[in-house]
Amino acid sequence: MNKQTRQVKVGKIIIGGGQRVIVQSMTNTKTENVAETITQIHDLQKIGCELIRVAIPNIEAASALKEIKKAIDIPIVADIHFDYKLALASMENGADKIRINPGNIGGKQKLKSVVDAAIERHIPIRVGVNSGSVEEKLLVKYGGPTPDAMVESALSNVRMIEELGYDQIVISIKSSNVLDTIESYKKISEVVDYPLHIGITEAGTIRKGTIKSSVGIGCLLHQGIGDTIRVSLTGDPREEVIVGREILRNLGLLDIGIEVISCPTCGRCSVDLIKIADEIDKRVECIETTKKLKVAVMGCGVNGPGEAKDADIGIAGGKGDYLLFIKGKPVRKIDENCAVDIFINELKKLI
Ligand code: SF4
Repeated sequence: MNKQTRQVKVGKIIIGGGQRVIVQSMTNTKTENVAETITQIHDLQKIGCELIRVAIPNIEAASALKEIKKAIDIPIVADIHFDYKLALASMENGADKIRINPGNIGGKQKLKSVVDAAIERHIPIRVGVNSGSVEEKLLVKYGGPTPDAMVESALSNVRMIEELGYDQIVISIKSSNVLDTIESYKKISEVVDYPLHIGITEAGTIRKGTIKSSVGIGCLLHQGIGDTIRVSLTGDPREEVIVGREILRNLGLLDIGIEVISCPTCGRCSVDLIKIADEIDKRVECIETTKKLKVAVMGCGVNGPGEAKDADIGIAGGKGDYLLFIKGKPVRKIDENCAVDIFINELKKLI
């Protein structure tokens, strides 16, 4: 159960207030390339992305939001740095949320015009602080971008919006250091009840970034901290969504979808299980379902079905074939050459 935060509405979804944790990602297309951006958002939505952020580095990108919005049905977040006009244009063109850093948007008057527009259109603002955005005076005060420095920076940015009469705020406070990130979120969750968007920034390439994000996001969620997550990876954003959902699944925070388990193989295995497990994993990622299922890909029929008896359906390697089993009980043998197709067809019957 996550910590009770206040609810913030972003388009058609609610963040915080005990709602389930939302998986976000960010496009890496040029936002002004409308067709490519829409295609990428559709791809991400299909595999479970529920909220999408796009970079708004120029007015063309802000204008593109209008067409993008018409073609997608998940809320969109406009990511803006420095230029308040881009925030205004993004909201005018349909952004469901904006991510800014109030301290670098150009001064109080400009911030006021952004907040006024957000109030008028009921658009929440994410205050996004990270270790690289901490103000110089706080770096001096704390001797670097420590968790205390990041928390103070986030709070002072939040206060700027509150003083302008708005409280539809989401906070993120990310570092590329896992322990600092955990510490920062723990500290800020003790002093505010705004929903928190959590993640490890600049986490790295797919393997290392997945590990860092799983440790950081996983620890926080397990402590009830975090209302939305983004796994930041140097790679295809699809990986971010897949990893994000796996983190939620493994913490019991995802009630739908298909979990794939597979054995590590050992001397009893006589099939190319690594290859077939990869294929099944990839095919399963593309299956949309509102059910919760577990599938098992096991190396041998001697131990496999028993080791995976809690799986809804599975296969276990034999000699040139696989044994199909359901709830640990053998059903029939399938030929090695068409095992993946047959298995996926059998799985789809359960959906
Ligand atoms: S299922 Fe069979 S092959 Fe896989 S680890 Fe267990 S004993 Fe080894």
